[in-house]
Order: sequence, then structure tokens, then C-alpha cells
Amino acid sequence: MSKRILVLPGDGIGPEIVDEAIKVLATLRDEFGLDVDLDEALVGGGAYDAVGHPLPDATLELAQEADAVLLGAVGGPKWEPLDIAVRPEKGLLGLRSELGLFANLRPAILYPQLADASTLKAEVVSGLDIMIVRELTGGIYFGQPRGVRTLDSGEREGFNTLVYRESEIERIVRVAMAIAGKRDGRVCSVDKANVLECTELWREVAVRVGSENPQVELSHMYVDNAAMQLVREPKQFDVMVTTNMFGDILSDCAAMLTGSIGMLPSASLDENGKGMYEPIHGSAPDIAGQGVANPLATILSVAMLLRYSFDESGLADRVEQAVNRVLDDGLRTADILSAGTREVGTVEMGDAVVTALRAD
Ligand code: NAD
Repeated sequence: MSKRILVLPGDGIGPEIVDEAIKVLATLRDEFGLDVDLDEALVGGGAYDAVGHPLPDATLELAQEADAVLLGAVGGPKWEPLDIAVRPEKGLLGLRSELGLFANLRPAILYPQLADASTLKAEVVSGLDIMIVRELTGGIYFGQPRGVRTLDSGEREGFNTLVYRESEIERIVRVAMAIAGKRDGRVCSVDKANVLECTELWREVAVRVGSENPQVELSHMYVDNAAMQLVREPKQFDVMVTTNMFGDILSDCAAMLTGSIGMLPSASLDENGKGMYEPIHGSAPDIAGQGVANPLATILSVAMLLRYSFDESGLADRVEQAVNRVLDDGLRTADILSAGTREVGTVEMGDAVVTALRAD
């Protein structure tokens, strides 16, 4: 039976970059035997404009029925004045929690052709290949109680709650262990166990899950040290697993080691491997509509979709090889341009990946 992908282009550059990813999927379907059907729906600011909510019921239903979701990006200045409950980002958070996408996989890979793009010295980052596994549906971003209250003194006080159940910690550490088993076999669990009781429990559970996976080497690091080590000696890491907020911050830091926000894909998975796949960057309103956005992170998100939700590693490898070939050929969008390379726009970059796919 055909697999179904729900495509959610979103806002800003979202539709531009998703169009190029669809070209790649269509090529895989028409010429490489991928049995897939694509649906499309609204999410984010565009959905708010159309129906008054960033995650319409119809979109959520299609997402629940689909085998995987491919998302562009949401948000933009136009929707910033809206109440927080209906801002575009709520559409994303809603999808993550409604679909139970608790495991966020964010690879930070430095393509050798782009070593110059990093702000760090080439010897520190060349060959970098880290997988950050971030817990996505719990922790302080969702914990209750939360809010802003007025004290008797009249001063206002903001508060949020960091909370994790053992089962939530266990399942995310298991995901990290499984991924490490297919890589270099090392997991570093990042916490703040010296200060936060919640992450003291995190460490205890990580140790327990680690003892059930003796083939994987488990280490622990406080988050402040992890941030420092990521910049000092990033190649010491294989897989890092951490809480929602720590993962949010560390994965952006790791992404920037590669110097190219337009190159990095991500996956958010549920317990059964169903996932939502999206580039790590936002809707880039500053360049939307100009045809200059880098579509490669979205195309590489298709590769992750094929690998993690469809078990099509062969096709995933092909897509990644096609991206590599295009970079080898010296084609670059403006964000990754360097001396001696040729600048291309979004559509030309997508076309080049399709041509490279066919050439393999
Ligand atoms: P951003 O990632 O959209 O842009 C940061 C910078 O990187 C900009 O200069 C942009 O032009 C550039 N950039 C991003 N993607 C690029 C690409 N593919 N090719 C070339 N250059 C690229 O972050 P921001 O400016 O902080 O946020 C803009 C909007 O996106 C905000 O509304 C924010 O809330 C939203 N956002 C959405 C997501 C998401 O949908 N997952 C993630 C982050 C931010």
C-alpha cells in the first residue's frame, strides 16, 4: 500500500523550499519506485489567515492519518502581534504534542565542501558528525503551572515548571541508545543534576537505561560544560541526549558549528517511528519571495524521512549523495557561497539535486 506524506509548506520561504523537496520526492516516486502519495495542507500564519487558527482541525486530521509529515517553516513579523495562543509557532507545538513526537533528532554534520562556512577553525570542525537527541514534548516548555502572576507587593512574577516523569526520560534515552548503536556507539547525556532535582532523576534513569545497553558507552555532562565543549572540541561527541530546553539551545549551537543553517535537517519521531521532518531554520522572512533560499535542509529532511519513517535507507543514501555531488560541483545558494563557487537560486539548486539523483 502507498505511504502517505502530508506536506505542510507553511510561511515565508517555506513554500519555496518545500517545492524543491517535492521535486525530489516526485523523482523518487516516478523513477526510483518509491510508492508514495502526497497531500498538502495549511499550517502556521497562512492557516491563521485562512481559518483563524495556526493548526486547523483538517490539517491535524490529515497529519494523524499520514505516515509522515514534511514541513517547511512557520511564522513571520505579520503574525507577531497576535495573541500567543494563535501565533504560527503554536501550530508547530500543537502538531508535536498531538502526534506525540517526543524525540527530536538534529544532526550537525559539516560537509567537507563547506568547511570554510564555519566560524571555528577548520581543524576543529572538519568531519564533524554529531546527532543531538532532544526530548520534545515535555520539560519546562510544557510543564504546569506556568504564567505571570502579581504578588501582594504589586510586583509581577513569571514562572514555569521543569517536570519529567521517569517514563518520559526512559523513552528518549532509549532512542539515543538505539541511534548510537547504528553510529559510533557513544551517548553523552546532558543534565544539570548538580542543581536541578528533575535532572538528577534524569541522570538516574539514564544510568539505568544505560546499564541495559552495555554495547553503548554512556557518559554524563552538565549542560554548561556541554555548551563549552561543543565549541572547544565538538568532535568528542557522537550522540547527545538531553531535555527539551537544553536540547533547543545546544542543537542551535551545534548547528552553527557547521556554519550553514540552510543545510541542516531534523526529524521528530513518535513511539512507532512516525515522524515530522523539517529544516532546522525558520521562515526567513528577510529573504522570502526572492528565490534565494537554500532548499538543501528540506531536501535532506526528505532523506531523514526515508530513513527513519519509511525504512528506505538506500533511497535516503541516494538523496544525500545527490546533495554531496551538487556541492562537489561547486553550486551554492547565497548563504553558503564562498570563493570559487557558483551562486544559484532555490529552483536551480533543487533542479541540480534532481539531475544528480538521476545521474547516480
Ligand atoms: P530564521 O531561521 O528564519 O532566519 C535566520 C537567518 O538565517 C536569516 O537571516 C535567514 O535569511 C537565514 N536563513 C534561514 N533559513 C535559510 C535558508 N534556507 N537559506 C538561506 N538563508 C536562510 O530565524 P528567525 O529570523 O529568527 O525567524 C524568522 C521566523 O521564523 C520567526 O517568525 C520565527 O518564529 C520563525 N521560526 C520558525 C521555525 C520553524 O518553523 N520550525 C524555527 C525557527 C524560527
